[in-house]
Amino acid sequence: MSLTTIVGIAALRARLDAERASGRTVGFVPTMGYLHAGHASLMARARGETDVVIVSIFVNPLQFAPSEDLAAYPRDLAADTALAEAEGVDVLFVPTETEMYPDGVVRTNVSVAQVSAGLEASTRPTHFDGVATVVAKLLAIVGTCRAYFGEKDFQQIAVVRRMVRDLSLPVEVVACPTLRDPDGLALSSRNIYLLPAERAAAPVLHAALLAGRMAIDAGEVNPAKVRALVADLINAEPLAHLDYAEVVDAETLQAVDPLVGELRLLAAARFGKARLIDNIAAGS
Ligand code: AMP
Repeated sequence: MSLTTIVGIAALRARLDAERASGRTVGFVPTMGYLHAGHASLMARARGETDVVIVSIFVNPLQFAPSEDLAAYPRDLAADTALAEAEGVDVLFVPTETEMYPDGVVRTNVSVAQVSAGLEASTRPTHFDGVATVVAKLLAIVGTCRAYFGEKDFQQIAVVRRMVRDLSLPVEVVACPTLRDPDGLALSSRNIYLLPAERAAAPVLHAALLAGRMAIDAGEVNPAKVRALVADLINAEPLAHLDYAEVVDAETLQAVDPLVGELRLLAAARFGKARLIDNIAAGS
């Protein structure tokens, strides 16, 4: 089947309701566009596991703070359409801002306590309310589905999982591994902002997390020591400006001391205009 681009909420609902009525399952990949191989891996997974694959592209103003890169966020609908088509996507949902927020104001805010605090929220306090609100809306539009999210945004998955559970949404959340360039840099639409020297420096984020994992594998159970090790490695790179380096429980995202069980190492740093995040698994 060929790719159909849909802009309207009602048209999308009608199409997906018809698909489900015919017994077909729906796989949903929400994105902000400027698609790369990381997004493509989510689409491929959905393609393999569900009958009808829908990808949304919506640069959600709610999740950007006034100081952030909303206006400058990269967009390329022609390239995105070609990538989605090559991945065998059935429906590309590209709502306008007016379609999503007709009177320009949102008075309903979805806020997921605890998992939305700390880490990313320490420098972006309103970010996850914006994410949860738009994802709740997108899931309400798409309806019963499997929804595919990348582990690159690890805290986002925890927020979405918890929201889906708390609101009894008819959605199965599927977490997919992070795709990386050969030097370890996680693929991101924001990598386009990196100047050549910053691009060369950026893999330090992943390298520092790997060093943290090695320390844990070697028996380090003191979270402060692991945090300091990861932070020192990132700070040693003059082009990196560290936001945070953390090690938390992989399930609750809460601090854990001593370091036992399934853990997640996460870090964020700015390289010039790009703010990059990364995370890896550690522990048992
Ligand atoms: P974004 O367009 O950045 O909002 O990302 C849309 C989805 O793609 C989210 O679920 C991301 O976690 C996921 N994603 C982004 N980068 C990667 C990557 N390098 N590998 C796998 N998934 C990714």
